[in-house]
Amino acid sequence: MNRRDFLKTAAQGIVTAGIAATAGGSLLTACSTPKTTKGGSNHLKLSFEPYELKLKHPFGVAVNTRTHTPDVQVQIEYEGVIGYGEASMPPYLGETEESVCKFLASLKLDQFTDPFRMDEILEYVDSIAPDNRAAKASVDIALHDLTGKLLGQPWYKIWGFSPEKAPNTSFTIGIDTAEVVRQKVEETTPYKVIKVKLGSDHDKELVEIIRSATDKPLCVDANQGWKDKEQALEMIEWLNERNTLFIEQPLPKEMIDETAWIRERSPLPIIADEFLQRLPDVKRAQGVYDGINIKLMKSTGLREAYKMATLARALDMKLMVGCMTETSCAVTAAAQLAPLMDWADLDGNLLIANDRFDGIKIVDGQVTIPDRPGIGVIPL
Ligand code: MG
Repeated sequence: MNRRDFLKTAAQGIVTAGIAATAGGSLLTACSTPKTTKGGSNHLKLSFEPYELKLKHPFGVAVNTRTHTPDVQVQIEYEGVIGYGEASMPPYLGETEESVCKFLASLKLDQFTDPFRMDEILEYVDSIAPDNRAAKASVDIALHDLTGKLLGQPWYKIWGFSPEKAPNTSFTIGIDTAEVVRQKVEETTPYKVIKVKLGSDHDKELVEIIRSATDKPLCVDANQGWKDKEQALEMIEWLNERNTLFIEQPLPKEMIDETAWIRERSPLPIIADEFLQRLPDVKRAQGVYDGINIKLMKSTGLREAYKMATLARALDMKLMVGCMTETSCAVTAAAQLAPLMDWADLDGNLLIANDRFDGIKIVDGQVTIPDRPGIGVIPL
């Protein structure tokens, strides 16, 4: 696509996004009016609006079960081109629709006239307040989408990755009743790897149900649900006999010595998720975990996620890219990094009933990144 055709497509995207926002009918009361910062066409213009994600099935993990996820959709406009971004806020991460809207409303992006000064812009965004990682990620994703579109290239190409190196994605089965788990195993038919959430009193029963239906490799995520290191190790050894690839966050993140104890003895790699958020956490994970699960809503977006991946590789650690329940916007952004990864868990968009973008595809189980500029999404 040449630049002129692209700008036309981007302009159509603006209109489509506006219609989707109005027709969606799910905007919440707090900051329900889309907010826009001032700025001419050669200044960055930020706008955002809440968009509640509806889950296809109630989703159970070791700590809770939910049916909705709060989310804020973001756009950055520059010279008629729009970059799309998103903040997803599962409750356990501490951000809310209100906190994200408040953070975004405090940004003055119209002071910037060159979107390619990403270091400067994102350092400014990071300096406004601590934490607010999903809010920061939404700006980072939209800025990557915008700059990739201005360059006319997807980010995986700008970074120089080979898309065919992207791994298979796992498809997640949450903690649920035996009957629902049986149904969900049927839904995993298109996928080659199954991720299972453990950490309840019925772990072995749940795995046995899955194993009675399929011998596909399992990724196990205990979500900090195991509390005793010896019992956890025994469970890991049991899972190792049942075609398991790795164990994610077996113990509470505070149990560092106990996790290192398990890692020394475990036949399977131990991966950090809740333990780790941003770049400085990678070094803390060394020697405690074998690898890390990078998610844009924790890392503050693609820029820091790329640095985390680079550092983890230099420390000889395994890499996995994950996501929250998100639309295809943030999931496709994360997919740009997939060729760097050992494993991918990019099914967040498949778990929601009201996606608003076309983007990442799973072809024969494998993460397939769209060959489109920016993060590669088109509003539905
Ligand atoms: Mg996890």
